[in-house]
Amino acid sequence: MEYLGRELNQLSVNDNFNFHPRCRKLNSVHICFADDLLMYCRADLISVKFLNEAFIIFSKALGLQANLEKSSLYITGVADHTKEELLKELGYAAVSWETICKPHATGGLNIMDLCLWNRTAILKQLRNIARSKECLWIPWVHTYFIRRQRIEIVQIPKSASWVVRKILAARNWILQGQVSHDLKFIVWLAIHKRLATVDKLVKFGIQIPRECAYCGLTDETFSHLYFDCQITKDLVIQDWETKVRWVCLMAKKKLGLAEIECSVFGMLVYIIWRELNRIRFQHGKVKDENVLREIVMHMHIKGQTRATWQCALQQLHVYP
Ligand SMILES: [Zn+2]
Repeated sequence: MEYLGRELNQLSVNDNFNFHPRCRKLNSVHICFADDLLMYCRADLISVKFLNEAFIIFSKALGLQANLEKSSLYITGVADHTKEELLKELGYAAVSWETICKPHATGGLNIMDLCLWNRTAILKQLRNIARSKECLWIPWVHTYFIRRQRIEIVQIPKSASWVVRKILAARNWILQGQVSHDLKFIVWLAIHKRLATVDKLVKFGIQIPRECAYCGLTDETFSHLYFDCQITKDLVIQDWETKVRWVCLMAKKKLGLAEIECSVFGMLVYIIWRELNRIRFQHGKVKDENVLREIVMHMHIKGQTRATWQCALQQLHVYP
């Protein structure tokens, strides 16, 4: 190890070698403990080359080689292409964390993914709250924070503890997955005017009350539901055909604000249909305020994973 130390110390007089930013003042490039060796430098190709060459000289002189299977390489603070260059230079291959966490039988190392574990534990608590499970703290959360509102739309109280806010915010993970799946299908049906409104069901011989479930004033048809109904007209879409053409045009442009508008349109179509069924089959009630809050919330959740939305969402800086 003294021989290795001498080889590595020569790097300190090499003008092209860059120390690890936090080790320059100590002129340090390695730490050795028993048979463990840690070497470090700035994550650039030239420095890594010099460090590797110094180790190879030592390795050839003494016949000691590093076991690649027991060695790890940590690279941070650089772009992906630099990372790939460094991996290639050193003969390593990048393995995703997801692969490492798989069971042995499927090629992983069976390492527990703590982020996933934590997420699951939080969702389990959210499920307990949603099901009003009999446990002292759950009635307490309902009494003080949820107050008979729906968990999907209840405003997360700032006065609640960090833990309660975190658990309630976990609904976003579920809503995002669930809504986007149902939404695509409903909007697709609506654009093709294939939603199973009452007039269509009656043609198939299904016996069902014909009145619009929202207003009860006239027969439920697609056009009544989306253009004429007294209850939904504040939410929608005055000229369906023009709006659909515009949305199709905007959807191709991949611009933040245009994408948000398309997404709002999709949410409106989806929510009007979903609430209609909730009223009809579960005797629910629709409130404009709740619908708008849900849409805004959905936009913000969706925007978290879309870089092009960030700027536009800041302009629409509203959160229910
Ligand atoms: Zn109506």
